Amino acid sequence: MAAVRTPDRFEADLARFLYERSEEARAVRVGEKETSEQAAIVERYADLFTREQHAALRGAEEDASGEERERLFRLRESCAGGLVVRELADESDRLENAILAERVEFRGESLPLRSAQARLAVLDDYAAREELGDLAADASATFNCERHALLRRGEDLDAELSGEPDPVRRSAERKAIDLHALAAALAQASERQAASWEPLRGRWTDRILGEARDPEPASYHVAYLRRMSPLAELYAKDRSVPVCLSTLAELGFDLAGDTRIRLDLDDRPQKSPRACVIASDPPSVVHLITRAQGGLHDYQALLHEAGHALHYAGCDPALPYTFRRLARDHALTEIYSFLLESITREPGWHALHFGLSPEEDAERAEAARFLEVLLFRRYVAKLHFELELWADFEHAPDYAERYAENLRRAVGFRYRPDGYLADMDGEFYSADYLRAWIRTAQLRAHLRSRIGEDWWRRPETGGLLRDLFAEGTRPTSEEIADRIGYDPLDTEPLLDELVPA
Ligand SMILES: [Zn+2]
Repeated sequence: MAAVRTPDRFEADLARFLYERSEEARAVRVGEKETSEQAAIVERYADLFTREQHAALRGAEEDASGEERERLFRLRESCAGGLVVRELADESDRLENAILAERVEFRGESLPLRSAQARLAVLDDYAAREELGDLAADASATFNCERHALLRRGEDLDAELSGEPDPVRRSAERKAIDLHALAAALAQASERQAASWEPLRGRWTDRILGEARDPEPASYHVAYLRRMSPLAELYAKDRSVPVCLSTLAELGFDLAGDTRIRLDLDDRPQKSPRACVIASDPPSVVHLITRAQGGLHDYQALLHEAGHALHYAGCDPALPYTFRRLARDHALTEIYSFLLESITREPGWHALHFGLSPEEDAERAEAARFLEVLLFRRYVAKLHFELELWADFEHAPDYAERYAENLRRAVGFRYRPDGYLADMDGEFYSADYLRAWIRTAQLRAHLRSRIGEDWWRRPETGGLLRDLFAEGTRPTSEEIADRIGYDPLDTEPLLDELVPA
């Protein structure tokens, strides 16, 4: 049996493990590798993730206090996470590889499932999107059994290691928040902007999908909407990088010149269409990956990911590894990505980069607000659904209909019940996004009053962000609220943005 490591030794070896794992995930994600071999990496580090190690970290944590206790808590959580990954690595590689190999036959073309999903955003023909959407959803749903089995096994193991059988309570403890209080505050906010959402939704879905659309179009059209496809020419694919770089430069960030951030902006068939940041070893190795398809969404995705990348690459290298890389959840880093992405909702930004008339600027900013409200309402519905699902996970398939109904009611698009597992990120990520939504609106209000309406192009904003980035992953989202003088659940600034004056 391998010796149990001291917490410091564990932290150092964990850093090496996460580096290899991140680099492997990156290679698969960007289409450099056709098969995922996470299981082999996990096997090499098998003695890092043992029940004995987990117990030793828990013991050290109980004897510690303050900052050190927090560090040890995060290390213990990583050890538990590693144990889960280790036991599930083969099964999850099998599922990942099967999904990578899955193909969709569409109008004489054989497309990898991921490419089919990416294609939905760029197909201009309504009926073709319906057809491809159905094919891709059928193909994806064939993996539901495996998805459920994998979640189930992960859940059992997590319950055992944490000693908390209730997944909702466990998640709330991990995030150090009350998930039900958060859901209630959000439901109220969602309700308060329901009246203004209806006309906004009608106007923009007509505009983008055409007036011959179904009253409740299929969810397949959402990616097409997000791209603002009929306006895609204005938001040209080849301008997204220079426009975003210059947007960041005005804040004082040199993304292209930052040697710690490796940009991967290429187009490859197996590259996932979803943009992401992989922080292999912050602050020195941070990957920013996007796949431009043309349209406003490229700009939003690049600025969003730039927020994450600058955060990780901006953390103080003197911080312990834990506070550079590990977090209780994703709610903190999402504040920075949401904030930079929100610049695309500033009318002045459209005027500056796309040379439109003031009426057109206002219209484009409204289009961006439409997308923002759509996504916000979708996530609120997702959180409510996930709270129900996880309260009774044993009977998960019974909740598929509830998923479709919750989302349909919230956004007015038809969701397929059998998409309920594929459309879920683990660990209540939806709650982290929603906390970031609330916090970003608070931070924007703070920046407007401290720096000015043009905060989005002032170096003072960059300075303020740089100070926050330096703290790495240590603070919670709620601590940021406290520093700028807001209650963590105060949704007033968010409602001011979602509901037109
Ligand atoms: Zn993000």
